[in-house]
Amino acid sequence: MVAESVCAAKVFVESVLCFALRKKREKMKPITWSYSSLSLYKQCPKKYYHLKVVKDVKEPLGEALVFGNVIHKIAEEYVGMGKPIPAEHASIEPALKALKEMPGEKLCENRLGLTVDLEPCGFFDKAVWWRGVADLIILQGETALTIDYKTGKKSQYADLKQLEILSLAMFKHFPKIKRVKAGLLFLYANDFIKTAYTADKQSDLWVDWVSDVGQLEASVKSDVWNPKPNFTCRGWCPVTSCVHNQGARNG
Ligand code: SF4
Repeated sequence: MVAESVCAAKVFVESVLCFALRKKREKMKPITWSYSSLSLYKQCPKKYYHLKVVKDVKEPLGEALVFGNVIHKIAEEYVGMGKPIPAEHASIEPALKALKEMPGEKLCENRLGLTVDLEPCGFFDKAVWWRGVADLIILQGETALTIDYKTGKKSQYADLKQLEILSLAMFKHFPKIKRVKAGLLFLYANDFIKTAYTADKQSDLWVDWVSDVGQLEASVKSDVWNPKPNFTCRGWCPVTSCVHNQGARNG
């Protein structure tokens, strides 16, 4: 009886959140967001404006990003299709082999979308509101694993929030799942940082995401994009016209 009431209350909270989002959205141009775009907005609305809204500034494709893309492709092809790992990247094989040999249905580079009503949808659907890509999902009945590959050399600044939003989307796409075991696999730092989420907590977890997206929507609506100085002003921000920009690093 108590469990039923708690469940009903959670369904109510989720429907209120969806209703609020829908109402906001009816009055403005719809937005789509991802974990990385929302993080960019939270770091600095002005930077988001230049990179994502007017797109008059481009983030240079750094070496680390290019390397990360290469390794992600190698991991996808090895775990998903059994394609051998090139000899120069042999050091990443043991960790990937362990994943490859795990039981369950494996979905590599799985693109997920959600509508504003938190319904599952395709990544490119017209109604898509949130988009995310899971490097690896392993479905094991009521439990699922999701792994995000990291190619940096250090794991101490690991950010688990991206696993949370992916897990929330997985609960919508695979309603049988009751628990997601999620992890950041640092292929070169030899580290694996784990967390877990349960389906019965999803309504609570959505609250902060909806609040953060609400702030982004408020900026879109008011067209106000305030600068928010942060560490990237000191040489890593490509918005050179900003008064807070301290110039290129080592430049
Ligand atoms: S220099 Fe700093 S404050 Fe200015 S846009 Fe870039 S991150 Fe934002």
